[in-house]
Amino acid sequence: MSDTPEHVRCLIIGSGPAGYTAAIYAARADLKPLMIEGPLPGGQLTQTTEVENYPGYPNGRTGPEMMEDLKAQALRFKTDIRNGWVTKVDLTGPVHKVWVDETTEIHADTVIISTGASAKWLGLPNEMRLRDIGGGVTACAVCDGFFFRGQTVALVGAGDSACEEASYLAKLCPKVYMLVRKDHFRASKAMVHRVENTPNIEVLFNTEVKDVLGEHAVEGLTIVNNKTREEGKLDVTGLFLAIGHKPNTDIFKGWLDMDEVGYLKHRPDSTKTNIEGVFVSGDAGDKVYRQAVTAAGTGCMAALDAERWLAAQGKH
Ligand code: NDP
Repeated sequence: MSDTPEHVRCLIIGSGPAGYTAAIYAARADLKPLMIEGPLPGGQLTQTTEVENYPGYPNGRTGPEMMEDLKAQALRFKTDIRNGWVTKVDLTGPVHKVWVDETTEIHADTVIISTGASAKWLGLPNEMRLRDIGGGVTACAVCDGFFFRGQTVALVGAGDSACEEASYLAKLCPKVYMLVRKDHFRASKAMVHRVENTPNIEVLFNTEVKDVLGEHAVEGLTIVNNKTREEGKLDVTGLFLAIGHKPNTDIFKGWLDMDEVGYLKHRPDSTKTNIEGVFVSGDAGDKVYRQAVTAAGTGCMAALDAERWLAAQGKH
């Protein structure tokens, strides 16, 4: 067995809509991409139920099925898809070094980062259980709000996302409870204004979720006022979390420019990062849109940018 690390022209890290779309484009451009799937093959969409807002699926598709479709399309063009987790990188260049599962070293001319982001959860046992069975706990109002139209729901969070998602839900639901743990919002004044001017949003300050009730679907919440310790039950059939996301970019700290939360910075109108030959796509570099279709769009951009970069280097 040779000790020389494997060398590829295009390495894709992560297997959500961004990674698969990058793979489809890179493979069709004959870059022979290697994809390392990451700890959650298929990405965040494998944790959702029905996806109805991805163009091309008139009757919807479940998140896991959609990711199988994307994977099949990437495999059709001979993407080398491997199970594993990138645990370390060395982007000193000119060849980028990546370690999979701490042991296997791979060298790549170009790297497309599509490691995504993870929604934050409260971590309550029943919250996680109902989330996993599609029982009405979700972290994406735009994706799942439609399933709760006509119902009373609760949303946790007090930032811009929470305000935006509460306003979105208020158009579908007769009543939206917004549960804010402090006695004030974190969101910008304009967003708070919007919430305050929406009559069917009721904000409960100093309020935390103690438990999520229901065996197969949300039937209510036990809430607690963290000042008075008074407990109560909230009759809702859906629980939305909007308490922030964490981009999965820790391994790139010290190499790539990122904002204070960890979202990777890229040049305007491009997926180029601050390091030559390293590109970012999907939620790892997007804190604003965070949709499957926008992730797929930037995956395509990253593959085109990688191909053009290789051509400019005389490597393609
Ligand atoms: P933020 O980190 O800004 O806000 C998270 C919110 O969740 C905070 O209010 C926080 O409460 C609350 N929270 C966190 N953990 C818990 C918990 N365990 N229990 C209850 N509440 C909790 O995240 P966002 O996703 O809202 O925004 C991320 C970034 O994106 C921000 O910079 C935001 O401005 C930006 N953004 C901009 C938009 C726009 O301009 N249209 C739209 C959406 C996002 P606390 O305040 O108590 O810490």
